[in-house]
Amino acid sequence: MVSATEFANTCEAAPPSRSSSDAQISEVQAAPAVARGDGVKRVQELLMEVLDPEIPVLNVIEMGIVRSIVCTDESVQILITPTYSGCPAMEMIEQDIRAALARGGFNQTEIKTVLSPAWTTDWLSAAAREKLREHGIAPPSGAACMGSPQQTEVACPRCGSRETEELSAFGSTACQALRRCRACREPFGYFKAI
Ligand SMILES: [Zn+2]
Repeated sequence: MVSATEFANTCEAAPPSRSSSDAQISEVQAAPAVARGDGVKRVQELLMEVLDPEIPVLNVIEMGIVRSIVCTDESVQILITPTYSGCPAMEMIEQDIRAALARGGFNQTEIKTVLSPAWTTDWLSAAAREKLREHGIAPPSGAACMGSPQQTEVACPRCGSRETEELSAFGSTACQALRRCRACREPFGYFKAI
């Protein structure tokens, strides 16, 4: 397969009189098995199999970690934004993304980390928040960008009561706090808004 730079050199070197049909043939030869548009869709499907190691009920698409997917003839380029800066889980996520794409036949995967804009829990979709609740984790309360440093009103994911209290600022993972419901008395994880 011809690399991007080699292909560019060939184009520059080609005499202007070269017929367009020749160019089309070389493009067809360089084309991947999957068409570009379908490629992005397929990559998205594969990425939905990659779960977040810290919140394993959500995949990297639902978490909003994957910022963009670009499919070229040669490779797949994926931009990801870490949920917490320096989060050790990101290395694992990168490996899992590579493995998932390789299973789907995408072997040339370039993963770039984008730190700005910083990831926020505001990027979690409504479906993702519902999924968290189903798994007994209270989704982030309120919009992080609205400013209030400590959201105290967190509804219990089991009974919906807002009579909950914080037991510990750090739960099973750094991004979760441990809270308890005063109504049903069950402890639960709260995905902190950032
Ligand atoms: Zn409760």
